[in-house]
Amino acid sequence: MDLGIAGRWALVCAASKGLGLGCARALAAEGVNLVITARGDAVLQQAAQALRDAHPDITVRAVAGDITTAEGRAAALAACPQVDILVNNAGGPPTGDFRQWDRDTWLRALEANMLAPIELIRASVDAMAARGYGRVINITSGAVKAPIDTLGLSNGARSGLTGFVAGLARQPQLASRGVTINNLLPGAFDTERLQATFAGGAAKTGLAVDEVAARRRAGIPAGRFGLPDEFGALCAFLCSPLAGYLTGQNLLIDGGAYPGTF
Ligand code: NAD
Repeated sequence: MDLGIAGRWALVCAASKGLGLGCARALAAEGVNLVITARGDAVLQQAAQALRDAHPDITVRAVAGDITTAEGRAAALAACPQVDILVNNAGGPPTGDFRQWDRDTWLRALEANMLAPIELIRASVDAMAARGYGRVINITSGAVKAPIDTLGLSNGARSGLTGFVAGLARQPQLASRGVTINNLLPGAFDTERLQATFAGGAAKTGLAVDEVAARRRAGIPAGRFGLPDEFGALCAFLCSPLAGYLTGQNLLIDGGAYPGTF
């Protein structure tokens, strides 16, 4: 299916691996020009080259930097001629017990998983509205809907972003001018981050890493972890005109793991 977004420009943050790269791949396959970012330059450049090799018709720019800093965001925005599509993403905060988290720990989580996306949205959405088309996708977490106790920093910071987006997406000056803003909530996806979570679980419980993974898998009706390209496919659809009437939503993609009706 042609999603009708060829030639547009997307800024996909934290996209050298995992879910961000899955989104970049799906957008590239639709002919979208890309600015991708990540902290580590070497892996980022490899990812960018693989995208160019697979899709010689598009432009791919790779900007190394920390998207949770003002400098990182400025460099990413400067590389993008216009942001038609913004995919907000960054590493998730560490797990732990809130008794050990001081104010600075909280501020780091808020910077990464709430304020950085809000700053990029602020830099982009009014120009999107002026041009009559824009898509913002925030990669958050299934933990926004079903909090995980050890992920308190994520639960808190991402819920702040979610509440903010719920109001912003409904502003008529955006919603009536072709700008949609939605959150994608991943369940368990097979990425480095997930493997690190299993390693952390193994260290804490004394179980083997494979056993920790098997127990997690057993709680997913689909019987497997999600693939970054499945995540990217939903992202690309949301970025298309076909999803123009869908805004302010939290879309869970988790193989049926969340047990509720709504
Ligand atoms: P990943 O570790 O596989 O990849 C993370 C990517 O982000 C890498 O490209 C890394 O270089 C980049 N990155 C990290 N911090 C950055 C920063 N400050 N600035 C720029 N780039 C940065 O992780 P993932 O599994 O793709 O997860 C992406 C997001 O989704 C994370 O916030 C994670 O917490 C969240 N999430 C993931 C899952 C899952 O199962 N994978 C589930 C729920 C939520």
